[in-house]
Amino acid sequence: SLEKGPEGPETPIQVVLRVRPMSAAELRRGQQSVLHCSGTRTLQVSPPGGGPEVAFRFGAVLDAARTQEDVFRACGVRRLGELALRGFSCTVFTFGQTGSGKTYTLTGPPPQGEGVPVPPSLAGIMQRTFAWLLDRVQHLGAPVTLRASYLEIYNEQVRDLLSLGSPRPLPVRWNKTRGFYVEQLRVVEFGSLEALMELLQTGLSRRRSSAHTLNQASSRSHALLTLYISRQTAQQMPSVDPGEAPVGGKLCFVDLAGSEKVAATGSRGELMLEANSINRSLSLHLPAADPQRKPQLLPTPGSSCAVHDLYNHEGSSGPLSLQSPVAKQPQRLETEMLQLQEENRH
Ligand code: ADP
Ligand code: MG
Repeated sequence: SLEKGPEGPETPIQVVLRVRPMSAAELRRGQQSVLHCSGTRTLQVSPPGGGPEVAFRFGAVLDAARTQEDVFRACGVRRLGELALRGFSCTVFTFGQTGSGKTYTLTGPPPQGEGVPVPPSLAGIMQRTFAWLLDRVQHLGAPVTLRASYLEIYNEQVRDLLSLGSPRPLPVRWNKTRGFYVEQLRVVEFGSLEALMELLQTGLSRRRSSAHTLNQASSRSHALLTLYISRQTAQQMPSVDPGEAPVGGKLCFVDLAGSEKVAATGSRGELMLEANSINRSLSLHLPAADPQRKPQLLPTPGSSCAVHDLYNHEGSSGPLSLQSPVAKQPQRLETEMLQLQEENRH
């Protein structure tokens, strides 16, 4: 288990590799896995061109026989939950190509039909974390306000998966106090596990229904569910704009779009735009650093790297592009990144 006691130093980024079982179709085609887990941390990969296997080391390696519960434990998500309760921003994300099991790992398999419940043993990291968090909060004996938002980024457009009406693209903004935020994103307060599960189901079904009409659009979009954890009651909180996220800890779950290359999928036209957007929304491009300019702005304390990484401000690709509102702040962003880089060096 990667979970550390409160005294040990924290590892800022843990990489856990999960190998999914061969699918029925793969087995029918007589295909064989090129991945071999050796021990609990090493993955051996047979090179496509033949020759000896190459070994890669991870925080943990879980073979195809490992259960959803094993994965939840190995990822140390409870530790992240504890940190979020203490005001940190923490992120769990899944990365890999389409069909590698990202959504299954985070949220479990889709229901097999109307009214057919998914067995609890197959619940994903998110449901398990939710159950753990609500139980933990109940036993804290102190008031905690919990809120959630759930959004999808598709072709550089942000869609609110919890919006009351039909979702329209929302702008991403940046300011000194809040850092990056999505304007008018619905942030819903919840008080029970059932209410949170319902929010998750609402968002998942919106992603899934769009998957039918848009030819598996869900595999080409990023989905972010954020839990905002504040150890204050709603009355004690300083007044905020309606819909503004309260200050406090954050726990963010990101189901990333498929990592496959444009060339590998043979994408053209719209698909090519999608693939480019996926990649662009994953990276933060910065203009060359000006050594004369001293960093003056501290990065937002506890800001989440995963969220920063989702935006860039270089160039512009149309009025609905994510980077347009951000482009007004290039120097600040650059300063912020310089500061971060400086900090990372020490
Ligand atoms: P991705 O989100 O990376 O595109 P999915 O999570 O949709 O991939 O998984 C692809 C398929 O494989 C789905 O049918 C899913 O139910 C199945 N699958 C993925 N991981 C596992 C696993 N560990 N055990 C059983 N089935 C899995
Ligand atoms: Mg998926």
